[in-house]
Amino acid sequence: MVASQLRGPGRSITNSRVLAAMGKVPRHEFVPERLRAQAYDDHPLPIGHGQTISQPFIVAFMTEQLEPKASDRVLEIGTGSGYQAAVLAELVAEVYTIEIVEELAARASADLKRLGCPNVQARAGDGSRGWAEAAPFDAIMVTCAPERVPGPLAEQLKEGGRIIIPIGPSWSQELVLLRKRRGILEQHAVLPVRFVPMTGDVKSE
Ligand code: SAH
Repeated sequence: MVASQLRGPGRSITNSRVLAAMGKVPRHEFVPERLRAQAYDDHPLPIGHGQTISQPFIVAFMTEQLEPKASDRVLEIGTGSGYQAAVLAELVAEVYTIEIVEELAARASADLKRLGCPNVQARAGDGSRGWAEAAPFDAIMVTCAPERVPGPLAEQLKEGGRIIIPIGPSWSQELVLLRKRRGILEQHAVLPVRFVPMTGDVKSE
């Protein structure tokens, strides 16, 4: 998977720590049992409740864009299977992850515990409000798509921090990288993508 999908033709993940984390985290453990044979294939997979675990390349790409550092505290919105949180947990000091579908949150939480990710805290809830008690964060990764950046996420980001987030309606989303400079979010579009929509009470900044 690492050699052909993340470093193959047209695929350009170069961060060696990210590549090592992708090589280490057992993706099949986060995939429903009947789909395990496809766990390392080059596409997303259903995880129940109409949701998906992202394609390996997208997980690696978003992780690399976030420039994860060993001392970082990172917030993820949209825990889903817990796989992305486990990849982040290899790379940063602390991961906080929120999932709105309670059954998925409970399963991911149990899987992350079972696989030994002591630096991940997972909870069920509406991630568009962020996680105020644990803020501020060095970086925020959003794996469901709102139409605009939720205001609380911008507020809970440290100065110099990064947010990677898919923005837009389901038929045309852009993965966007935001960086906070002097309190203002600078924005760069990085890739057209397709994520599930962000639900909940999304209030933009
Ligand atoms: N990162 C996941 C993939 C997530 S799919 C993985 O590695 O498997 C996107 C997830 O975002 C879905 O599980 C969906 O239920 C969740 N979601 C949608 N809106 C949300 C919200 N407002 N707060 C938290 N999670 C949300």
